[in-house]
Amino acid sequence: MNSFEKLLKIFEEFPGIGPRQARRFVYFLLSKDPQFLSSFSENIVDLKKEVAQCKECLRHFVKKGQSNDSLCSICADSGRDHSTLMVVAKDTDLAAIEKSESFEGYYFVLGGLVPILERNPERRVRANELHKAIERKAASGLKEIIFALSATNEGENTSLFLTKFLEEDTKKFDIKISHLGRGLSTGSELEYADKDTIKAALANKK
Ligand SMILES: [Zn+2]
Repeated sequence: MNSFEKLLKIFEEFPGIGPRQARRFVYFLLSKDPQFLSSFSENIVDLKKEVAQCKECLRHFVKKGQSNDSLCSICADSGRDHSTLMVVAKDTDLAAIEKSESFEGYYFVLGGLVPILERNPERRVRANELHKAIERKAASGLKEIIFALSATNEGENTSLFLTKFLEEDTKKFDIKISHLGRGLSTGSELEYADKDTIKAALANKK
């Protein structure tokens, strides 16, 4: 495979990008000068050096200077509400909720959703990591888990799977499960929801 084809394949793996768009991206890169291309590739190489994954909520965050922080600013903030944990599919959903300034608790990023008829759901989302996070957080007063998943079939399927997967934990620690997605309109994506929609969904969580 030559570099044109390799890049085509890489762009096709990007979320929401099909073969036609991938091809447009490669031609876009071809139209740029060598300086742009080398700075572009340097940024890619540096990305993981400058961005870390929080060991608690598993979201990505930009590290400050040379510090080796393993917790993001939200998890490092001990003043938040320890009784609630919001489970989101991806980093961008967490950002949307945090921006709405309507949630005071902590988060957990699943890293995806479980497609309908998936045989190995625990491989598609960080279910085991969530179980471990719940065990840790139960010790500091966790009382409610809010599934803030998109109001889509996949979102619904994911909460069904997780409710069952976490049944032992929720019984053992007497933790309530509620759903934010049902307060959103059917088929809507959390990532694109505005501040008021998120506030209303939180107020109407079931
Ligand atoms: Zn965190």
